[in-house]
Parts: sequence; C-alpha cells; structure tokens
Amino acid sequence: MEIFKGQSLLKFSKRFPDDLSCKSYLADLKWENGFKCKKCGHTKYSLRKDLTRTCTFCHRDESPTASTAFHKVKFGIRKAFFITFEMVNSTKSLSASQVAKRYEISRKSAWMFMHKIRKVMESSGNNPMDGLVQVDEFTVGGKEPSKQGRSYDGKKKKIVGAVELTSEKKIKRVYAIRIDNFSSKSLKVLFDRHISESAKVETDKWRGYRPLTKKWNITQELSNGGRNMPQIHIVIHQIKSWIRTIYSWVHPEHINKYLDEFSFRINRSLFKDTIFNKIMERVVEAKHTSYKEIIVHK
Ligand SMILES: [Zn+2]
Repeated sequence: MEIFKGQSLLKFSKRFPDDLSCKSYLADLKWENGFKCKKCGHTKYSLRKDLTRTCTFCHRDESPTASTAFHKVKFGIRKAFFITFEMVNSTKSLSASQVAKRYEISRKSAWMFMHKIRKVMESSGNNPMDGLVQVDEFTVGGKEPSKQGRSYDGKKKKIVGAVELTSEKKIKRVYAIRIDNFSSKSLKVLFDRHISESAKVETDKWRGYRPLTKKWNITQELSNGGRNMPQIHIVIHQIKSWIRTIYSWVHPEHINKYLDEFSFRINRSLFKDTIFNKIMERVVEAKHTSYKEIIVHK
C-alpha cells in the first residue's frame, strides 16, 4: 500500500473519494501482516464487496473498522477520515461546533469522535524523553463564568510541562499534564510517565523538585524571568495562548486530552508529511472507546 503523504486537502479528497477507498486504506493497515481470524486463528478468508473478511473455516466476519477506534462511527468512515485529517494538520484545535457544521453532524457526535481521536493521540509513554530536558510548572485559565452561561469554578488550572531538546538546543518533543497541585508527588507523575532516569533535567528553584533528585539527575537554577530556560518558556507561552483561544469550549475536566492533542502535533511537526498515516496506524491499534470511558477518563 502506498501511504498517504502531505497536508493537501485536495489530494486527500482525491485519494479518499468514497467510503470504500477509506475502508481499503484501513484494511491494508490493519491486515498489513496478513489476515488471522480472531476466533479460530485461521488465515484464509473470502472477501466481501464492503471489504469485510469472512473466515473460511469458522465463517466469522470481520470488517475493516472492527476493533479499531473507528468502530461504529455513526456518520460514516469518510467523514471520520476527513475530521482526523483536519485534526492532525491544523495548528490550532478545531472546536466540536465547527466540525459539526462543516460535516453536517451533531455537535455531540463531533465532540465524541474528536475525543476518541485525542485518546488515540495520547502518548504510550514507551519512549521517554532523554538527553537535555527542561521542566516547568505553570497555571492556565482562572476565568470567571462567562456571559454565555458556561460556568467555571474560576480557579486556575495547574500544569507541569517538559521539553526535550536536540543537541542544538532546539525543541524536539513536548509533554504536559494537568496536576492537582505543585507537590513533589504530583510533579512526579510527569517524570514517571515521560522522563528517562538518564536524562539531564533542568528546573527552576521550586522545592517540589528536590525530592525527585534522588531518582533523576536534576539541576535547579533560578528561572530569572524565563531567561534561563527559554525553550520551555516558549512552549508554555504557546500552551497558554492556545488554551486561551479554546477555553470558552474546553471544560477543565478534559484539559489533559487537549494537552495530548497539543503534544501529538508538536512532537510530529518534523514529520508532518506522514502524520496522517501515523495517526491511522494508531487508529487500527486502538480499542473502541465508549462514551462512558471518554467522560470518565481524565
Ligand atoms: Zn475463523
């Protein structure tokens, strides 16, 4: 299969003119290493028009979308492809209302589907940051209830972020998570999930990092108004301004999902050409996420 490359919406719509072309792409990725029946393990199948494979031994059917993140997408696979394409290629997030209008689907369906994709974007944590890493903590939000009637508690949300730098001190990767407070225990969640013990970590003088020096190689320096760690401060600035633009429609409870989306795009900005295929590889590996899981997962 030739993977889809590039960011052109015109090329994308030419490559995926109908549901069948989308299913074919998904099927190629899903059965890259050949078909194997999930029930009996048999590898021979007969192919139906809609690209469903039927096991020739036990007659079990499996559609290209079964057990992927696109399983049972209400509005059809082609719209799912397009929304995903737009999400990975836009610099700023799209709102569920925008997507609902553009694709003629309900706001709730758009919201649900986009959270599914954000879940797919979530890092596995299998490839922790190494080398030079800067960590800093900051707050976002703190808006009072707006006139539109969405009520927030008015409290600032606390976030800890980390950047991994190249040897030229350029930003390579970014991770950020919302935490309840700036205690060592909370900060450690980011370290555990995303920072290798062999990394050379820089932080400001905040005492919350001190206990973590037992396990990680941390140098604490005065922040000097952000001048000592310019790279992480650039990222913090980006996160803050991005959250400000989406804050009217992001519920603080879901902030981590949006941070996952932010990281996914930044961390692949050097590989923009293949970003769509990358997310599709994850879509076929992902389990179907239920509405309940999306609501509960933080
Ligand atoms: Zn079978």
